[in-house]
Amino acid sequence: MAGETNGSTGARDLPSLMRMVELLASRQASSRADLARLTGLSPSTVSQRVDTLLRCGLLIEVGNGTSTRGRRPVLLSLNRAAGVLLGADLGASHFELGIADLDARIFKMRLGPIDIATGPEAVLTQVTTEFRQMLDEEGLSPQDVRAIGIGLPGPVDFERGMAVRPPIMPGWDGFSVPAWFMERFEARAVVDNDVNVMALGAYWSGQFSSEHMLVVKVATGIGCGIITGGKLHRGADGAAGDIGHIRVAGVDVTCPCGNRGCLEAVASASAVARQLRLEGMAIEDTDELVRMARAGEPRVLIAVRAAGQQIGEVLASLVNFYNPDTVVIGGALAELRDELLAVVRGVIYQRALPLATRALTIAASTTAQHACLSGAAILARQAALDADSVASWVSNPSIDQGAVAGLAAGALGTTMS
Ligand SMILES: [Zn+2]
Repeated sequence: MAGETNGSTGARDLPSLMRMVELLASRQASSRADLARLTGLSPSTVSQRVDTLLRCGLLIEVGNGTSTRGRRPVLLSLNRAAGVLLGADLGASHFELGIADLDARIFKMRLGPIDIATGPEAVLTQVTTEFRQMLDEEGLSPQDVRAIGIGLPGPVDFERGMAVRPPIMPGWDGFSVPAWFMERFEARAVVDNDVNVMALGAYWSGQFSSEHMLVVKVATGIGCGIITGGKLHRGADGAAGDIGHIRVAGVDVTCPCGNRGCLEAVASASAVARQLRLEGMAIEDTDELVRMARAGEPRVLIAVRAAGQQIGEVLASLVNFYNPDTVVIGGALAELRDELLAVVRGVIYQRALPLATRALTIAASTTAQHACLSGAAILARQAALDADSVASWVSNPSIDQGAVAGLAAGALGTTMS
């Protein structure tokens, strides 16, 4: 085909190019033979497509694999030197920022305080300044950035990239976060809520062998990220998994959402702390709650176990409904394994149907601390490798590979744990 001999790629080639990039990025494929087998394309078509991706710098050849007979296959990999990703996990009072290679492996991290309630311009100005400094320290420039992933602590319209009536984020409603970053980095930016990015982080951490996963964050609020068939399920409007407002029987506490008896209003970390304060205990915040539980303070332990009971009841229904293979508990309270995880697990096994729990894994996220930041990097990787990005990559490989190439040799060993 004329279009392929001169290296240009028609729109009709894009789905197969995308599929091949996806298979290589997820490490399901590592050679031309794998790609042919998994895509059903002929070896010659696969070779042409691979040549296109090699020429534009998105792929590289990385030596030879093993073979029981015949020639050893040439191994293919995403070119980690073809640009970097930025990830940001923004909480109510803290940020975690990271620079990652194209494989979403984070090699530079920075943590610090923010006040999300000061509004988007103040917070994002700070984040932009930090990102620029971090890039500079690595000898990188904003032009090296391929995509940016951001987690926000509130409901997010994923398609439009904006928070929608976020309770703890005054001024953010309807503010376009992608437009802000696009102006400053000329890179795609994608935004999701913190629970969904945590779910992506947990799914891609390699800690679990799972295709159908529920990731429950128990922190200031309670939310659930849903992975189905290896993909994040956001629902029609991005509201999937908002389990914090499921009604709990026998409870009459008013929730900030305006309803009464919501799970979040009785079993979130802030609800537990508030309840203990009403009983006369001096508990400032979630950190203090966790500290006191660890120290074995009896009233705190009783309150956390009661929260675990209520979370477990809701999750038992969700397990029956969704039939996940893995339930992951993350967020501040997940650190209290004996008090929270053990209770949640007990209730689920007792209340959910045997068929749904036969092979069910219920675990705490071991990457809880940075799961949201890892997920933000994954979000950025998905944007960097989506159809629009691959199309523009193939037609316009503009990245200055010189600056990023040094990273591939050096700092990439220092991935986050
Ligand atoms: Zn509510």
